[in-house]
Order: sequence, then C-alpha cells, then structure tokens
Amino acid sequence: MKITQISEHIWSLKIWIVIPIHVWVVVDKDDVTLVDAGLPFMAKGILQFIEKLKAGPLTRIVLTHGHGDHVGAIEKILSVIQVPIFAHRIEIPYIEGKVTYPRKKKPMITVAKQRTQALPENEGELQSMGGLTPYFTPGHSPGHVVYYHQQDQVLLVGDLFTAKKGILRKPMAIFTGDMEEAIRSSAIVKQLKPLRLEVCHGTSVLQPANQLDTYLNS
Ligand SMILES: [Zn+2]
Ligand SMILES: [Zn+2]
Repeated sequence: MKITQISEHIWSLKIWIVIPIHVWVVVDKDDVTLVDAGLPFMAKGILQFIEKLKAGPLTRIVLTHGHGDHVGAIEKILSVIQVPIFAHRIEIPYIEGKVTYPRKKKPMITVAKQRTQALPENEGELQSMGGLTPYFTPGHSPGHVVYYHQQDQVLLVGDLFTAKKGILRKPMAIFTGDMEEAIRSSAIVKQLKPLRLEVCHGTSVLQPANQLDTYLNS
C-alpha cells in the first residue's frame, strides 16, 4: 500500500488492482476519520498506518457511497475496533440490500444491516465531522457524497469523478447510476474551489475548478 501525506491533516492510502483504489485518513485534534474503506485486504495496512500515526485510535468511518470497492475493509476493521460508520441516509437502503443500485441486477448487502448510520443533518444541511463537511452529490450512486476539508482546502470526491494525469474525467460509466445527474453534481467544485481534489480511482487534481468548463464540454 502506498501512503502519501497530501495536506497537513490528510493522508491517502493507495493500492493498485486493475485500477487504483484510494482511501483517506484524516486527523483532527484527537480524532481520526477513515474516508471510504477500499477492499478487504486493505484493512491491516489501514489499521497499521493509523497506529503508526499516533494521532489516536480510529474514531469513525465515513463513506462517499456504498459500492463494494469503498466498503470492503469495514468488517475486518470492526473486528479489531468498534467505530460508527456513516453514509448519506439515501444511500443506506442500497448499502443494506433493501433496494437495488441503479445498473445492478439485484440488491446486494455491501455492509451488514444496521451498521451504517445516516450522516447527521441539521435543517437539511449535512453536519461536519472530524474536520470534514459532507456535500450531497448524487448521480454515480443515489446517495453519493463528497467530503470537504475546509482548513486544508482538499475535496475528497470518491467516485464523483475519475482523473488521469491530473485531468478530471467522468466517473466510470458502467458503475454510474445516472451520468447526467453525476455531471450536474460536479458543480460542487465551482462552489467550493478546492486547492486539491482527490478521486478514489485516479490521480490527484490541482485547482480543479479551473478545469470544470472543459470537463462539462468533454
Ligand atoms: Zn462507485
Ligand atoms: Zn469506486
């Protein structure tokens, strides 16, 4: 697993299996958040890295969405440390196999039932946790969110985009429920203007707002 510190509070952990798969560890005072949980065999490396950081034990896992390549290490991590798991309330019935994900043939339980809690909301606004603010960005999946680290100006986007050589690309079509909606959700980049954007499957993107018009016309 390749580990890179991408900003003051955020580390990216990457494996390569046909495509790159990233998860992120975010440190906030004594609080350690894992954003997405990759594949099952990443659990050991994730936990070892958090131990080595000495910033405290894992506090929570937050999910951009519930596809299998974003939740894989959860079971193994929970067998070592009990932490809450959060996803958008709209995503949870898909995660628990009560509803079938768009473009899938049958429902799948990607995280055991009643493990995942809804991201807290106040008057319809998703609340910050561990230095990260979630924003609702549906399309790739019905309850997809991105997480913005305001202080570091880093946007962790899961599968809202992919990226190659620092260029924003559309999410992978075969896994994307509603591409038009996903493209509309990309407006979050113009709203937040992060210094840096990180995708699950691809490279880092610097100053992504500058690329958005080209992205929308591609
Ligand atoms: Zn996905
Ligand atoms: Zn993915």
